[in-house]
Amino acid sequence: MQIIQFDIKTILILLVLLFVIIVLRYLLFSGAYYYTTFVLLKKSLYSRILDHSPVPRKQVRSEIYYSVISAGIFAVFGVGTYWLWDQGYTAVYQDISDYPLWYVPLSVLLVLFIQDTYYYWVHRWMHRPRIYKYFHKVHHNSVHTSVWTSFSFHPLETLLQALIIPLIILFVPVHIYAVLAILIIMTISATINHAGVEIYPSGKYGAWFGRLIIGATHHDVHHRKFLYNYGLYFTLWDKWMGTEKELDPKQETPAS
Ligand SMILES: [Zn+2]
Ligand SMILES: [Zn+2]
Repeated sequence: MQIIQFDIKTILILLVLLFVIIVLRYLLFSGAYYYTTFVLLKKSLYSRILDHSPVPRKQVRSEIYYSVISAGIFAVFGVGTYWLWDQGYTAVYQDISDYPLWYVPLSVLLVLFIQDTYYYWVHRWMHRPRIYKYFHKVHHNSVHTSVWTSFSFHPLETLLQALIIPLIILFVPVHIYAVLAILIIMTISATINHAGVEIYPSGKYGAWFGRLIIGATHHDVHHRKFLYNYGLYFTLWDKWMGTEKELDPKQETPAS
């Protein structure tokens, strides 16, 4: 389905456009999330803030710097994926009737689970002492994480992260809007998990939710304790491989 002509000029325009969109998405969403949780709802969320000390300005500057570089890499992969889709190489479909309607949410879950599995194992690999300093150290420079940490990765780590969704959608049929939903979930989840404030419900329902879905408290343990909680969206791989650091439900903060 040739929609546009892929000459150098068009590719460059698409790259710049996508780069700007990704950077704005990062700045606007992280900014809005910070403003909502730490300013507007500060009083009601006060006890759920994981660390009340301020995040050093120098750290925030570095996080934004690496996140902007990440945006450039994601833009390159985005344009590449758009080209693959345009040429008909991907399994992405546009006609909703191509697959049953129940398949749409299932396909989203399936892609997220494959991405989660991939990230869990790549993440553990990146924690190997010889690999760590080249791929993953930049992300762990932030111990007290913030909304700006969400896309702060060394370019080598970003490369590993950026290639998985294009690879999955070469084989797994996903509706075009489901792809969009997956990208939105990626952004929201990365921001929630690094923001340093637990927004997921507490109580019985919250305990069930927290046992399955990774939130700020769970990922904060990874940044502080280092050798636990490697997962991206789901706690499953950490449970299965015995790398989950249990949370103390009474304190709603990580048990040490
Ligand atoms: Zn890590
Ligand atoms: Zn992190």
